[in-house]
Amino acid sequence: MQVCVSVVFPIPFNRIFHYSLPLELESERLAGRRIVAPFGPKGRIGYIVDGLTRPRVKGIKMIKEIIDKEPLISTNLLELAKWISKYYVCSLGQALDIILPHNFRPVKLREKIKKTEIKVFSAFIPSPQQRRILKPIQNNIKEKSFTVFLVHGVTDSGKTEVYLQAIAQAQEVGRQSIFLVPEISLTPQFLSVFKQRFGSSRIGLWHSRLSQGERYRTWQSAYQGKIDIMIGARSTIFAPFPNLGLIIIDEEHDTSYKQEKRPLYHTRELAQKRAELEGATLVLGSATPSLEAFYRALTGIKPYRLLTLPERIYERSLPSVDIVDMREELKKRNTQGVLSQKLSEAIAERLERGEQIILFLNRRGYSTFILCRECGFVLKCPNCNISMVYHFNEKRVKCHYCNHHAEAPRFCSRCGSKKIRYFGTGTEKVEQVVKKMFPGAKVMRMDRDTMRYRHAAEKIFNAFRQRKVDILVGTQLVAKGWDFPDVTLVGIISADTALNLPDFRSAERTFSLITQVAGRSGRGPKGGEVIVQTYNPDHYSIKMALEHNYHSFYEREMEFRKELNYPPITNIVIILVRGKDEEKVITTSEKIGSLLKRELNQITILGPTPAVLDKIAGKYRWQIIIKTTDMKGIGEFFQRHYLGFEQKGMEISVDVDPLNML
Ligand SMILES: [Zn+2]
Ligand SMILES: [Zn+2]
Repeated sequence: MQVCVSVVFPIPFNRIFHYSLPLELESERLAGRRIVAPFGPKGRIGYIVDGLTRPRVKGIKMIKEIIDKEPLISTNLLELAKWISKYYVCSLGQALDIILPHNFRPVKLREKIKKTEIKVFSAFIPSPQQRRILKPIQNNIKEKSFTVFLVHGVTDSGKTEVYLQAIAQAQEVGRQSIFLVPEISLTPQFLSVFKQRFGSSRIGLWHSRLSQGERYRTWQSAYQGKIDIMIGARSTIFAPFPNLGLIIIDEEHDTSYKQEKRPLYHTRELAQKRAELEGATLVLGSATPSLEAFYRALTGIKPYRLLTLPERIYERSLPSVDIVDMREELKKRNTQGVLSQKLSEAIAERLERGEQIILFLNRRGYSTFILCRECGFVLKCPNCNISMVYHFNEKRVKCHYCNHHAEAPRFCSRCGSKKIRYFGTGTEKVEQVVKKMFPGAKVMRMDRDTMRYRHAAEKIFNAFRQRKVDILVGTQLVAKGWDFPDVTLVGIISADTALNLPDFRSAERTFSLITQVAGRSGRGPKGGEVIVQTYNPDHYSIKMALEHNYHSFYEREMEFRKELNYPPITNIVIILVRGKDEEKVITTSEKIGSLLKRELNQITILGPTPAVLDKIAGKYRWQIIIKTTDMKGIGEFFQRHYLGFEQKGMEISVDVDPLNML
């Protein structure tokens, strides 16, 4: 008798294939294993999603090879993949493909080098504030029930200790924990805290720079339950623990939790689904929770619960925040557009006292646009229709979207005039201005340009921690949860960069960035100050960030979201059509638009229109924005039509709950 299995492949359409296999495997669990099947000229790796069935048709092909001796994908992770495929519009094979590491193959392991075990410190005694919120979390872990706790704690409120005690609780009941951070390379300090508490042999680290061997070893030790804790960025959510009891997402608001390649998932939603499947506890922590999470927790949407840490630890006060109205500074000619008088005086004062300073600006490069004063020509990327950014060190202009670069022009390419001027400020210019104004100070810059090198984050982190640097100039990378007790001044060079973007989340981003950057100040006994430079001092996102008032910001922002029917009131789906042939891009997006209108009625459709960034890397971009609460209907629509939209030379992506509206 012949037996067969159901197999899916990581291809962009949802189809199940059947293959037969050797009879001796009949009695084993097959779902969740990988095989090589005769598919195409060479054969292809696929996933068994269903065990044995009787073949309904004749002539089913035999598989070529069974790769895995046991199922690598547990029943729960298989269920998670099915959910991903439905919600985020991809095939089941594509969803399974992100659960296992890329090119995952057994690697011959050399004898494990014995690591010197760091002395394990016993747990700290939590403060009354910490104890109050730990109790429900720990009880929930003991009860093994599925609940989502949103821990809203001001910056420096001692969230880490809450995380550590929750993990210890999971360990006590014999279950494992996943701890997610936005960017593992940026948080070396977390690691040492965890190692000191739990011992390094119980912890796995998961990040993109692991070698094949390290990756395999770490994966295996999680799979076999030899470690209890896995720490890493978003893909760590797939850690193959046999008995997962706790998932923690630190800095829950961080946009890096959204995956940028298909499937475009959000880690928070995946974590919620996985916790549900495993009967686990999910803890989300942030000083500035996403509106999505806070809305669910505040309105008690099950299984969300809100817990708050309203005060900083050790009775430290939140830093005092001062605002500088840059319009006034301009009138008084107090500025070259970079540092106001107030901020430069404050810097001088700290340098005198030997304290540290962080200067924040969310734009890298030197000048952010280049204009001809004779004819008004703005230098734009030929592929993207976006302003080129001048980089001083390399003396080149670069496009930050497609990486096109060229020599900095000395003449206008339209009229030949020499009157070319460089406007706008990036981190490179801030660094230069500061070095010129304070020649004795040691200045370091931290942005995507200086972080390209291996271990760059650790080097900057250590130099700053060891006080070898006085002033750190950086982009949002400096806002990601760092803890430097000697920083007593944070200067926000411009609070307006995010505010002016055509995105409904621009106020939320602005509030969050100011609060997070400001939170780097005053984390030691000396206290701290924040100076914010802005041309929009009356905007509510800036005003309420200065007052450290998340609740008022939330109320005000929700009015706007309700009025215009934006998330978290509704869901958004963006369909983006890209291609080199503009005509085809337009007709394809129109075709999709009219199909949507015909088949779904509980939705609002905006477009098709050119995207805000209407051309990137030579490809035209048109989009359709859907607002809906009927996510099931949307999912079914794409299951029906997805394949039909695919055309040669055309890329169609569906972004469910997008974070980037450009
Ligand atoms: Zn010109
Ligand atoms: Zn470009």
